[in-house]
Amino acid sequence: MKTSPSIAKNAVKRCLWDIACPGSSKRMTDEIWEYFNSRCAYCDQVLHRGYGQIDHLVPVAILRQALRGYFVLACPPCNGNEKREMDWESFLREKCGCDEVAFASRRAKIAGWIKAVRGADAEVAPELAQAIDDALREITLTIDHHISLLLALKKRV
Ligand SMILES: [Zn+2]
Repeated sequence: MKTSPSIAKNAVKRCLWDIACPGSSKRMTDEIWEYFNSRCAYCDQVLHRGYGQIDHLVPVAILRQALRGYFVLACPPCNGNEKREMDWESFLREKCGCDEVAFASRRAKIAGWIKAVRGADAEVAPELAQAIDDALREITLTIDHHISLLLALKKRV
C-alpha cells in the first residue's frame, strides 16, 4: 500500500470520526458517491469505486472542521495535480471552459451538496466536532514532528 504523511493524517481523522460517530466515514463516502451519481464533480466523468477519490473542496491548509460538506467525488486527475490549492469554483470554471450550461449545473450540484450536508452535520454536537478538530491539530503537529525526526535520522544513516 502506498503511504504518505497525508494518508496517515486522513486515516487518523477517519478513526476519530468513527469513534465519535460510529460508521460516519463509511456513510459519508457512500453518501458522496450516491449524491454525485458516481461522477466527478468537476469534469463529470463516470467513475468506479477504486478509481474515484474523495476530494477536499477547500484546501486542507485552511480547513478547520472535518465536516462532510467539504468533500466531493472527483477523478484522480481533477483531485490531484490539476486542482491543487485552487478554490473549487475557479477550478470548475477552468474545467468547463466556455460551456456555461455545464458550469451552472455542476456548480449547482456542488452547492446543493454543501447545503444538504450542513444540515446533517449540524446534528453532530459542536463540542464533539470541536474536540475532533483540536485532537487532529495536536496529532498533526506530532506526526509532522516525528516525520521530520525520522527523515533527519534517515539522512544520517
Ligand atoms: Zn474529473
